[in-house]
Amino acid sequence: MLVFLFLAFVGIVVLGVIFCIFFDQAVLTRKDTIYRVQTDKKKVALTFDDGPSWEWTPKILDELNKAGIKATFFLVGYHVQKYPDIARRIVAEGHTIGNHGYAHSVLFYYTPAEIEEEIKYSEKVIKDITGYTTKFFRPPKAWLRKSIKQKIKSMGYEVVLWSLNSKDWVSFNHKQIVNYISKKVKNGDILLFHDSGNVFSTEGGVRTQTVKSITLLARTLAEKGYEFVSVEELLNE
Ligand SMILES: [Zn+2]
Repeated sequence: MLVFLFLAFVGIVVLGVIFCIFFDQAVLTRKDTIYRVQTDKKKVALTFDDGPSWEWTPKILDELNKAGIKATFFLVGYHVQKYPDIARRIVAEGHTIGNHGYAHSVLFYYTPAEIEEEIKYSEKVIKDITGYTTKFFRPPKAWLRKSIKQKIKSMGYEVVLWSLNSKDWVSFNHKQIVNYISKKVKNGDILLFHDSGNVFSTEGGVRTQTVKSITLLARTLAEKGYEFVSVEELLNE
């Protein structure tokens, strides 16, 4: 009996991971959020979630500097407390900061008061440490209900999801990641990457392929005439 239960559990976990790899659940919650921008200009926004990471964010910042790209980082408040210097470096280098919650909690079952506390506390941590006031919120795992979207907007935030998911947390090879994006990319797309974590955690992980993607992505999309801008600039198009 125990063996059966264990196998059933493993089966459910494997199916769940396969589902997440081949399907982007964010398409289910896009209504009334910003996930791409209608524009006739060849502009896209590159976004990174779950950082800062002491290990990967500095490498990603180096690559962005080399490529001359300004990106948008949706930071986890808890990680900002842990790695304040890296959070400050993101701001100092001219990137945009978004709020990704304090503890990366999925907000689906939160009460409005709990949502407010989660977002406001993360906002305060980011502001105290970097001086930056966030106005974009990206919900962990993109799990949202209509009332949660309304609550977030009532706090003066825009809810920002994405239109193109690199699936970099799966650790595909960087050439596969860039090839996929290059085939799908359209004007006004918001691209999702991660500067921290893996399948099971928002910390650690091996983001080598994410780091390697940046130079190749910059070159490949530049050849197609695309320019990278922050989410803020994309919204002003
Ligand atoms: Zn996240």
